[in-house]
Amino acid sequence: MRPPFPFVRDVAGLRARSFDLLVIGGGIYGAWAAMDAAQRGLSVALIEQNDWGSGTSQSSSKLIHGGLRYLEHYKFGLVQHSLRERRVLSRIAPHLVRPLDFMLPVFKASRAGPFMLSCGLTLYDLMAGLSPPVRRHRYYRPKRVRQDFPFLDGAGLVGAFRYGDCQEDDARMALVVAAAAHGFGAVCANGVRAVSIAAGDHPQVAVEADGASFTIKARAVLNAAGPWAMRLMGEAAPEVELIKGTHMVMPAIPGVRAAFLLTAEDGRVFFVIPWYGRTLVGTTEKTIARVEDATPTEDEIDYLLRALATAMPGLGWARSDVISAFAGTRTLQKADAESLSAVSREFAVIEPQPNVWVSVGGKYTTARCDAAGIVDSMAARLDNHQPSRTDVTPLPGAPTLPFQVWLGSARAQLLVAGVDAEAAFTCALRHGTGVDALLVLIESDRALAQRVHPDAPFIRAEVALAQSHEMARSEQDVLRRRMPLHLIVGG
Ligand SMILES: Cc1cc2nc3c(=O)[nH]c(=O)nc-3n(C[C@H](O)[C@H](O)[C@H](O)COP(=O)(O)OP(=O)(O)OC[C@H]3O[C@@H](n4cnc5c(N)ncnc54)[C@H](O)[C@@H]3O)c2cc1C
Repeated sequence: MRPPFPFVRDVAGLRARSFDLLVIGGGIYGAWAAMDAAQRGLSVALIEQNDWGSGTSQSSSKLIHGGLRYLEHYKFGLVQHSLRERRVLSRIAPHLVRPLDFMLPVFKASRAGPFMLSCGLTLYDLMAGLSPPVRRHRYYRPKRVRQDFPFLDGAGLVGAFRYGDCQEDDARMALVVAAAAHGFGAVCANGVRAVSIAAGDHPQVAVEADGASFTIKARAVLNAAGPWAMRLMGEAAPEVELIKGTHMVMPAIPGVRAAFLLTAEDGRVFFVIPWYGRTLVGTTEKTIARVEDATPTEDEIDYLLRALATAMPGLGWARSDVISAFAGTRTLQKADAESLSAVSREFAVIEPQPNVWVSVGGKYTTARCDAAGIVDSMAARLDNHQPSRTDVTPLPGAPTLPFQVWLGSARAQLLVAGVDAEAAFTCALRHGTGVDALLVLIESDRALAQRVHPDAPFIRAEVALAQSHEMARSEQDVLRRRMPLHLIVGG
């Protein structure tokens, strides 16, 4: 195994040979599938038309969660599966998947009363198994809720529950998993676009990269191009529905570290989530015809602002407080799409053409396990019946020391090197043991310990590292995905 970083773009390597598996799409599904297959000893190529995690995988709510609201639809299997994966991801990537408390206020008019919610949350805790990464749920009386969160709508408030889930930086997670695939020998390149797929006994994929066209040969092809996937399938494309979800980024709510699960006036739930010293608010849900339509609209921002003003009137936030907004697209199999909110985010892998598989739908939370299933379904074709081991393989940057011990020491080293306290904390979580590479850079130039922007906890050494070790090729790659600077300061 080679080190995952430096994560090297290898376009020449894609031309040089034929592969067992070619994965199209460097979102979280393509990245996990490539890592899993490469770890099983298969020769793997992973291509991404733009940048790692630049599709849906940078536009999620950034939660690694069981999906509490699916309990309401009796999707017990899905919730339990997601909670199991939450535990796996927290174990193999404790630096990237962090616990987050959620507050769930209850009102006289709420669909479910305190007793029902208490039963649901007890079940949620039980399904999370022994030693979950988060705290068990707890009930708060209305007086305490008003005192701690005075900005919440107090009319009809009968209390609130606190429960636990986890949070991530989605684009960073996709990058790290793709780099792990590289570590296990996959030939990876961003900026390589699949143009067409010729299925058959020996599938071939025509690609374009750096102004040149060539063909990649493989025994099997996985089309993990997310909402773009069907474009490559022609007549063989299964029917899917594209559902856009928009989030807006707002200032921090002073002194509040918990997220909120709230209900808008139309009965839809939405999240208010602290993230990198800002607040994510989302999401909307709307069917779109083309993936290009997945941009936030004024109507969606107005909807979210109205929902927020009703649920949290004390914040007094207006349009001028919106820092940025982003939208992503879920792909649902047509049969699943009749009721958007009620539908499970279940996943399918299909083989509509010989030796060409397509992944449809899914969740960040379950992508690792779903990808293991994808590679399993190709076992006969690839003559490889090894089991998946990604559930017990620490991701790049995962410390071997007990997490809090390691975190304390990593922060201390960054502080000594001149990084400010907030940036040291986020650096440690974003890079894990990779902070060593940042410290080496800072040692050679102390100015690299300074922030890139005064209002964002990212340092100049991270920009240098993104270019030299993380395959960043453009300003967007660096300032939107290697660090989400554009999201949290706008621009
Ligand atoms: C609004 C929203 C919120 C969500 N929130 C959560 C959440 O909080 N938690 C959770 O668990 N899940 C969440 N999800 C689901 C999760 O984000 C998705 O399941 C996941 O990101 C899908 O990843 P993917 O790899 O299938 O697709 P994508 O991330 O879209 O990856 C596909 C990749 O393929 C590339 N590509 C496309 N065409 C080509 C081509 N021709 N050649 C080469 N490359 C190509 C694209 O550039 C893209 O990078 C959310 C989804 C949405 C839409």
